[in-house]
Amino acid sequence: MRVLVTGGAGYIGSHTLLELMAQGHEVCVLDNYSNATPEVLSRVRSLSNGVIHDYVGDVRDADKLDEVMQDFQPEAVIHFAGLKAVGESTEKPLYYYDVNVRGTLTLLHAMTKAGCKRIIFSSSATVYGEPVYLPYDEAHPTNPTSVYGRSKLIAEQILTDWTAATPDATAVLLRYFNPVGAHASAQLGEDPKDIPNNLMPFIAQVAVGKRDALQIFGGDYDTPDGTGQRDYIHVVDLARAHVAAIDYAETATGARPFNIGTGQPYSVRDMVAAFERACGKPIATKMAARRAGDIAAMQADSGRANTELGWTATHDLDAMTASTWAWQSKNPNGYEG
Ligand code: NAD
Ligand code: UDP
Repeated sequence: MRVLVTGGAGYIGSHTLLELMAQGHEVCVLDNYSNATPEVLSRVRSLSNGVIHDYVGDVRDADKLDEVMQDFQPEAVIHFAGLKAVGESTEKPLYYYDVNVRGTLTLLHAMTKAGCKRIIFSSSATVYGEPVYLPYDEAHPTNPTSVYGRSKLIAEQILTDWTAATPDATAVLLRYFNPVGAHASAQLGEDPKDIPNNLMPFIAQVAVGKRDALQIFGGDYDTPDGTGQRDYIHVVDLARAHVAAIDYAETATGARPFNIGTGQPYSVRDMVAAFERACGKPIATKMAARRAGDIAAMQADSGRANTELGWTATHDLDAMTASTWAWQSKNPNGYEG
């Protein structure tokens, strides 16, 4: 299929491009490089030896989208372009709604004009909010506790209403758990611009000597070791879920959410211990207060993705930490070298 990938130069997008091309899909990227660098696509090109059509532009720019739709004529869109920092979303709510909600709306208008009726959307487990039960399945109530989470839920609702009103349209809503890890080549990985918000890139920066110590946000949760538990998923497994979603969207209609996780929860201490195994040195940690808005534990029931998309995660925790360490140690300053 011809697949337009918005935000394709980002962390998850870049890994997905490689998996799409490996399965024979033709790809085109639209990215404004607000959180990426063109070096990413150079690396994806050399790793794949393939052709990537690419446009520099904002997903809220209707004229640019019309141009891309006319030139590339996508049969499906994977919509990664968006903002993702929970803390920042509280400080800049209008900016988050503008990019994440208006961006999605503008894209849907352009798709409708061009007759493109398949979209795979980057949603998040954060749409569920405080767990009523675990593991979360897709029927779990949605009650996001941040602007970021609400922006994702609103976009999901818009996509659902669009499919209800558009014959043959499909929206695959992928609710990601915690993506970590890097490509096996160590050429692609997560490259946060500022101090990392997320656990894994922070640990990796401590290991490589860029940060002194990891602060563990809370040791008094109701979990086996007192630290927060999450469902970490290797970014290559996540990328492959998008390829499975593209295959599903070929014949499916309507909107359907899918949890994309492993179902295996790990604590902050488990992650530190696994990273120490990968890099062969101790990771300095210090205990800190709980981070506002954090929940104690979460994990996915990904049974629906297993049966309906024919997708399962295959990478274990050691593969996640080893690939992160290979990427971080070979690229201590990310894509800058
Ligand atoms: P990322 O920041 O690495 O990638 C996003 C890409 O979109 C970047 O290349 C950025 O330059 C681009 N972009 C941002 N705003 C844009 C705009 N207005 N127009 C065009 N391009 C724009 O993030 P990621 O981790 O790869 O996440 C991709 C998507 O997955 C996001 O929508 C994010 O909310 C969602 N998601 C991420 C996680 C995670 O933990 N990484 C978890 C759940 C959901
Ligand atoms: N965490 C931590 N120190 C950090 C960053 C994260 O202890 O510097 C913890 C956080 O409290 C949570 C887990 O690690 O329990 C995963 O956090 P992350 O921000 O990576 O993901 P999210 O909160 O979005 O699930």
